[in-house]
Amino acid sequence: MTAVRLILLLGLASLLPAQIDRNARPRRAERSREYDVLHYRIKLKLNDAARALEGETRITLRPLRDGFDTLVLDAETFRVTSVEQLRFEQTPGKLTIHLNRPYRFDEELSVTISYRAENVAIDPTRHGMPKGYGLGISFKPETPSHPQLIHTLSFPEGARHWFPCYDHPNDKATSELIATVEARYQVISNGVLQGVTEDRAKGEKTFHWLQNQPHSTYLFAFAAGPYAQVTDKKGPLPISYWVFPNAAPDAERSFGKTREIIEFFNRELGYAYPWPKYDQIAIPDFGGGAESTNATVIGSKTIHDARADQDFPSHALVAHEAAHQWWGNLVTMRDWSHTWLNESFATYYEYVYMKHLLGRDEGALHLLGKKRAYLTEAREKYMRPVVLDRWNWPNDNFDRHTYQKGGVVLAMLRSLLGEEPFRRSITHYLKKHAFGSVDTHDFQIAIREASGQVLDWFFDQWIFRAGHPVLEAGYTWESGVMKLSVRQKQPDLFTMPVSIGVTTGGGKRVHKVWVRQRDESFDLPCPEKPLLVHFDEEELLLMELTFRKSTEELLYQLAHDNVIGRMDAAAALKPLANDPRVSAALRQAAADDPFWAVRRDAIFPTDAGFLRLRASQDRSSAVRTAALAALGQLHDASLAAFFEERFRADDSYRAQAEAVRALGRLGGRMQLLREAAAMKSPDDIVAAAAREALAR
Ligand SMILES: [Zn+2]
Repeated sequence: MTAVRLILLLGLASLLPAQIDRNARPRRAERSREYDVLHYRIKLKLNDAARALEGETRITLRPLRDGFDTLVLDAETFRVTSVEQLRFEQTPGKLTIHLNRPYRFDEELSVTISYRAENVAIDPTRHGMPKGYGLGISFKPETPSHPQLIHTLSFPEGARHWFPCYDHPNDKATSELIATVEARYQVISNGVLQGVTEDRAKGEKTFHWLQNQPHSTYLFAFAAGPYAQVTDKKGPLPISYWVFPNAAPDAERSFGKTREIIEFFNRELGYAYPWPKYDQIAIPDFGGGAESTNATVIGSKTIHDARADQDFPSHALVAHEAAHQWWGNLVTMRDWSHTWLNESFATYYEYVYMKHLLGRDEGALHLLGKKRAYLTEAREKYMRPVVLDRWNWPNDNFDRHTYQKGGVVLAMLRSLLGEEPFRRSITHYLKKHAFGSVDTHDFQIAIREASGQVLDWFFDQWIFRAGHPVLEAGYTWESGVMKLSVRQKQPDLFTMPVSIGVTTGGGKRVHKVWVRQRDESFDLPCPEKPLLVHFDEEELLLMELTFRKSTEELLYQLAHDNVIGRMDAAAALKPLANDPRVSAALRQAAADDPFWAVRRDAIFPTDAGFLRLRASQDRSSAVRTAALAALGQLHDASLAAFFEERFRADDSYRAQAEAVRALGRLGGRMQLLREAAAMKSPDDIVAAAAREALAR
């Protein structure tokens, strides 16, 4: 599951930000089970025009105790019309069925429930989901951007809105869907298509899908509509992308790396993709993806034209949802309090793949983005343990603690354990719990079994406790010894290994120190006075750091450090740009640094001539956009023609939007602004900038 919103701000979370008021939230325990569902057979007849469904679900189960005579199921939105000859009651959210006799422990039984619903329009806000979220089942009329279609979103507790079930992740069952729809529709679902039958007289088609490996109900899904199927034929595993007909030409651009991603994870995880096929299905009004079992539904907005690819690539999203086919779908958190076992792992392996795809520097930037997203939440909203059994709705667990923080924690765990022990632990954990349910302790135990390492201390501080290290560091050098001092400023102390990169005229040396105390200092041998000291050379630690440096050291860092070090130096030097050495170094970095994000971050309000060059010539749209933003801050009317030229010439939607924004500040050019306001672009960024300018 991904909510796509990236904020690249590194704010210093104040030392004592708001904590979640645990007592204000109910304590949640994993749900106890009275029975074990083995299989769901879901028959649905769907009627778009009436936004109606007619359902018949047969549930096969085994009681988990003797004397089992009452079956209670989750059921919302639809009205049960009959349960064979059995007596039943439907109360808000529940269906209670009185069986014809008591059943013994483990005695298999089936019940068939008939139900229907008309004018379906589920209000997600009544179930803890945001407005506009298509919880359960949605009947979507045609709009300029998508055809008429029907789709489910069973995440987190949506399944109960389209079939009666035990709707909690700690029970897994096989499933089949038999859906009857208009003949012009395709139906895509979990598992393997068994067959399609057509009733020409009625103008209907019935699709029969079978998922014969157990999975949790929040992963059950189907979509029905006039989909175009784009298949990847480059390997044995059937891979298809199901998109709206007009999007077919662009589908490959977003989904084309799917096979490569799955093959990468097969190797990386040491566990082969466990499902018989992999479909990705576009749905409207959804900003992200939901990893239903081998049938991921993905927001159609990710599909984009060639121009947009430089600013809006889909690979991270595709990798994230594909990673879930292992993390969450194969091995599933047994309760929402352990959501990180799904989301942190998918977020972490998204990062591992992006690093593999784009290289070390882009990988470091990707991980930095995760850190910044968590730190922003920690500063602006709250800090909480990643595993917390206090929440109102399951969706409360889906925040930047369970995505980004947990993802970064896994990166630290890998470094701590070492490459091979970490990979062995991951493979062992997957094999041991395949098609099963887990909690955090299961992961700790798997690490211990595979590596011998008992890491309770690590999980206690990073997963079961709120917060992160807030450090102050500095150093002195004297006669061959560099004395590094570190202070922990946050309330609870952390224990952490830190790599210290020390560069002198004679080269770089990396030291490993363990920080444990409130105040600590480390004497590190260093023959010459350091030119640069890089705290956390590996860029792994999730922390806030204050490390005062001289302008000289920052200038050296801007020119010589790793990519994150150079970005940090650019940010630290910008307030000192009145110093001609600093402004010269920043211009040099903005023009010549090999990595785009350093050039972008070195852009500062300087002479228009320099910025015009960067805005029109840099190969990175992000750098051109940053230069246009800096030019816009000059409020120089003589630049209006340049902004218009950039709007017309730049092939980046982001740069175009920034040119429009700059023009808006200068006023005038109404014709161009109206033209831009009508322009199609991803996330509507160009039109939004024009509307803002016109409103101004
Ligand atoms: Zn996810």
